[in-house]
Parts: sequence; C-alpha cells; structure tokens
Amino acid sequence: MGKIVIHHEGCKGCRYCVDSCPRELIYINTEQINILGYNPAHVKDDPEKACVGCSLCAEVCPDVLIEVYREKKGAKKEHA
Ligand code: SF4
Ligand code: SF4
Repeated sequence: MGKIVIHHEGCKGCRYCVDSCPRELIYINTEQINILGYNPAHVKDDPEKACVGCSLCAEVCPDVLIEVYREKKGAKKEHA
C-alpha cells in the first residue's frame, strides 16, 4: 500500500502523472485553478483502487511535485 502527495500549487496540468498511474488514481481537477493558472492534478479517494506505491507518477512529473510513501512494517518511507 502506498500514498502520494501532490503539490498542487506548482502543477502545470500536463497529465503525465495521470497517464502513468496503473491504478488510474490521479485526475486533473477541472474545478480548481492553481496560482499558475492551471487545473492541477489530484488523487482520487477510491478505497477500491489503493495506491501500490510504484512511484511511476513521481518519476514522470517534470517538476518533481509528487511524493510517494510506501507502508513498510508499520512505518512510512519516502521514495521520491
Ligand atoms: S505511486 Fe503508482 S499506484 Fe500510486 S498513485 Fe503513483 S503511479 Fe499510481
Ligand atoms: S506530472 Fe506533475 S506537473 Fe504534470 S499533471 Fe502531474 S503533478 Fe502536474
């Protein structure tokens, strides 16, 4: 099980993270505009599709806006 944090304020809405996620957990929030004037990426709150902590989304983000945490023996480890 993993968890990601997206820093929305710097997002340019390029969708790279959206397209990279094998669990289809990330979407562009068209109801929000960030300080740069873009619709930013958000994480779906879907209990049926848990994040696996693969870090693909973080690796493709050109602006390094995504942090990935993976649960490991009760502790959370940062991967990006
Ligand atoms: S870490 Fe993997 S499963 Fe989790 S949101 Fe990112 S791409 Fe999707
Ligand atoms: S890859 Fe980065 S900049 Fe592009 S939509 Fe995702 S969070 Fe935003």
